[in-house]
Formats: sequence, structure tokens, C-alpha cells
Amino acid sequence: MATLKVKKYGDPVLRSPNKDVIKISSKIQKLIDDMIDTMYAQSGVGLAAPQVGENYKLFIIDVSAEDEPSNPIVFINPKIIKKSGAVISYEGCLSFPEVYTYVRRYENFTVKAKDAKGRPFMIEGKDGSLLARALQHEFDHINSVLFIDHAINRFETDQILIEKGLPAIDPKYLLLEKPEVKDEILDYS
Ligand code: ZN
Repeated sequence: MATLKVKKYGDPVLRSPNKDVIKISSKIQKLIDDMIDTMYAQSGVGLAAPQVGENYKLFIIDVSAEDEPSNPIVFINPKIIKKSGAVISYEGCLSFPEVYTYVRRYENFTVKAKDAKGRPFMIEGKDGSLLARALQHEFDHINSVLFIDHAINRFETDQILIEKGLPAIDPKYLLLEKPEVKDEILDYS
């Protein structure tokens, strides 16, 4: 196991298409193990393969609380089953050091995927929970979408990006279809 370098916003790998994992080979198994190490080393809640330079439909999430045992969940080739409702989420991303901004998310988000052993499972993130929002954030990564694409205030977000030495928002990636917002939920970090 080893920690990997996390690619920063501006690296084209984050906008490149991601391919399905056809076989959970020893290479993929090692990638998963290293991604888990990397996520914990960086105190992240989730990490997607393109963030470590591998364009696969694969991500990991651990939303367990600090006083709970760690519980990494591996998602291979995930698909959306259901999405509904809307919330505002305050988010950051390991590929955007020190950048946090408000984004729109669905309140409920259910995906199916395969686990690290290739077994199918389904997981439901409800009520704007950290799980619901982390699922969407990571699912976006494997579709080459980044959290800033959902930014509520584009100009404020641009300012933060520039302050942190990152490229400004490219308007061609801004998402026009946004869920309607009902509530505000803080603390995705
Ligand atoms: Zn991210």
C-alpha cells in the first residue's frame, strides 16, 4: 500500500472520460488499496480514480464519524438508481486545496455499483446527509464533472480559485440543469 499524488484542478485528467472497470485485476486491486491510503492520509471523505490520474469509473467513500471505526466503501462502475429533492451543500475537494464553496445537490441519491470483490450492491443517501452529498460529488468525478460546476455563486467561487492559485471556472462546464433548492446543509469536509 502506498499513498498517491492527488491531481489538482487544472490537470486535464480530471476532465478526461473515464472507462468502465472490466476486470478487478491485481492492478485495480492495488489502485483501490492505494486510493484508500491516500484518502485517509489527506483526511478526505471520498476520492475518485481520476483524482489520482487513473481514468476509471471507480471511487471510494468513508463517511464514518471520527469516533467510529473506518468504513471505506468501494464503488466500481456505479449507476444512478434514483435522485430527488434539493439541498445546498458547502463542499471542498482534495483536488482543490483550501477551496470551499456552496453548490446545489439532490437531497436523496441512490446508486448501485460493484464492490472491490465484484459483488453488486445498492446504497441510498438520504435527507441531504453527508453520504448523499459525497455520493454525488464522487459520482460526478467519474463523469468528469467537478463540484465547482454546481457553484451557486460563480463569481465568488472564481475569486476563491484565483486566490488559491487555481484556474478560474471555465463557463463551458457550468451546469444549467440544477435541482431546486429547499434547505441548507453545511459541512462537507
Ligand atoms: Zn472531489
